[in-house]
Amino acid sequence: MSDVIRLLPESIASQIAAGEVVTSPAAAVKELLENSIDAGATSIQLEVTDGGKASIHVLDNGCGMSPVDARMAFEKHATSKIRQADDLYKLHTMGFRGEALAAISAISQVELRTRQADSELGTELILSGSNVVSTNPCVVPVGTSMKVKDLFFNVPARRRFLRADKEEFKLIKREFINVALVNPSIAMSLYRDGQLVQELPASSLKERILSVAGRSFEEKLLPLHYTNTMVDVTGFVSSPIAAVKTRYQQYMFVNGRYMRHPSFQRAVEQAFEGLIPEGAHPNFFIYLTVPAENIDVNVSPTKTDIRFVDEGLIWTILKQLVRETLSANVAVPVINFDAEHTIDLPAYTGRKAVMDEEAASWETTPSVGSGASYARRVFMGRGAGGASLGESFGGSSRASSLQASSFDLDWARLSESFERAKPAESESLFVEPDVIPSSSPDNSELLSVGHMLYKGRYIVTSLRRNLVLIDLRRAHERIIYEQLLLEMQEGRIEVAQLMYPEELECSLEEASALEELVEDLDTLGFALEPTADRVYTLRQSPTSVATQAIDLIRGVLHHCLDTGQCGRDFLLRSLALSMAETLAKTATTVLDNQAVEDLLARLFASTDPNLSPRGRTIILSLTEAEIDNRFA
Ligand code: ADP
Ligand code: MG
Repeated sequence: MSDVIRLLPESIASQIAAGEVVTSPAAAVKELLENSIDAGATSIQLEVTDGGKASIHVLDNGCGMSPVDARMAFEKHATSKIRQADDLYKLHTMGFRGEALAAISAISQVELRTRQADSELGTELILSGSNVVSTNPCVVPVGTSMKVKDLFFNVPARRRFLRADKEEFKLIKREFINVALVNPSIAMSLYRDGQLVQELPASSLKERILSVAGRSFEEKLLPLHYTNTMVDVTGFVSSPIAAVKTRYQQYMFVNGRYMRHPSFQRAVEQAFEGLIPEGAHPNFFIYLTVPAENIDVNVSPTKTDIRFVDEGLIWTILKQLVRETLSANVAVPVINFDAEHTIDLPAYTGRKAVMDEEAASWETTPSVGSGASYARRVFMGRGAGGASLGESFGGSSRASSLQASSFDLDWARLSESFERAKPAESESLFVEPDVIPSSSPDNSELLSVGHMLYKGRYIVTSLRRNLVLIDLRRAHERIIYEQLLLEMQEGRIEVAQLMYPEELECSLEEASALEELVEDLDTLGFALEPTADRVYTLRQSPTSVATQAIDLIRGVLHHCLDTGQCGRDFLLRSLALSMAETLAKTATTVLDNQAVEDLLARLFASTDPNLSPRGRTIILSLTEAEIDNRFA
């Protein structure tokens, strides 16, 4: 039998390796931006074409490269950031591997123009799939211009898997923002297909955050500061009133680079417990600095997941720091913070001692007066304005507090419910499909004989020969949801001009999501007009939800950003669902027998009477036999 194993040609091997480092245009953008920062640039311009697929162009005014360095930079393991073995560990921890440019050039066409301050002429280097096409002296400003064209041109399988331009652009913008938020002193601009998308002048950190996250945070950022030998924490948390329904404005950075750290994120969220309604999330921009040898960034290929040596202690510090910042800044008495139960921020006395102290103080915090009632005061107390994220929970100025308090969408679960339209593990109490028909029932069989309302929420009645409990609110949700969906699809939504047009101020990301949705929103009755940079005015809304329109729209935007879905169908369903939930909460529970029968008839005419639009059980049923059994 002949041998079958062959060594891959070097060019193919390096393409494969490259695919692991550069997984998308956004990954290339991240590497290029970081190189510019490492080169000491004070100004960086990023231009992308066709979602980065056609070209990514990064221009900086950093130190530039000599002609030899320019050529060397594209060799594997070429880096100027390590000189001796001592640096090696640091190299590992910071994620410098000297392979980004080698990887990028293996799978694209690169045009590099660069000059150092002490040379009169610069260098132009053109490469195609790692091969030098030409190198020439050229006249260029000091700094580096790196243009990466036709990413994956020689790896068609990979190229096919790239997302649509706008999806890739979204990821690129994320990287841009992640870099911008940590380098406020660097002027940065972003162009998409020749158009300026974002211009960020050099500024203070707070100013940078505001220009990225939106001016609505202006009065709502609380500064954080803490230092000890292990960790240095700075940054901002938003005050509780600015809480939103998603986590997409929760940023953490370590040693000048963006990181994902779900456990630290939770520490901050826990510090907000009792101060914001359930399902709401704080926004934060937190910057950690730790000795380089105390972290490992090479946990994930993208280097965004970081492992810390002192994870537990930093967790405690973060939570405590945020708690104290909140208690110092929130004017209303904060119930969970009486002095005898708060601890001083730990000095480094050993992890165990600190954790014990922590447990004692956090877990025994009394709940008198309850955080929930405080949250309600905060959220219900601010009616007018309606422009801020947090105030969305208080509803607009014309929303009754009843409606407002019950308006609480769970966007995170929304997408799940669309996927998971199956009932939970059916126990004996759940309706079996053959017991209750899923549509077009034989009404004579269904007619109930009287009913009672249990706890103001469950209709208790009989259907066929079963005893059933029907969750009234969920039944309403199902009915209203389908009705709204139909009306929207057919363009029959009743709309009203708003007497007081409301403003919707968007963050950079919200604004780009809104741009994609604005036309569809318009056809659904939400008339939004751009009135200033990233500010829209709502002049018309569907009548039934006019008082919550801004909240609904913002909720949809966040859901869109969270899930990466957009599209008209998605929009219809999200809106119909949230509108249905809002309306169902205020629907009457005073029902006579006729009303109950009408309700049941409509429920059973829906596409899925057994499940709410979110996939929750509407009907519980006990068969005759089951009842007899229990009395046996
Ligand atoms: P690393 O950043 O890990 O060192 P890269 O492959 O990203 O590896 O870059 C290789 C080298 O090329 C860098 O160490 C640096 O010397 C040089 N380089 C890359 N980009 C720039 C830039 N924009 N300005 C100056 N030098 C650069
Ligand atoms: Mg690099």
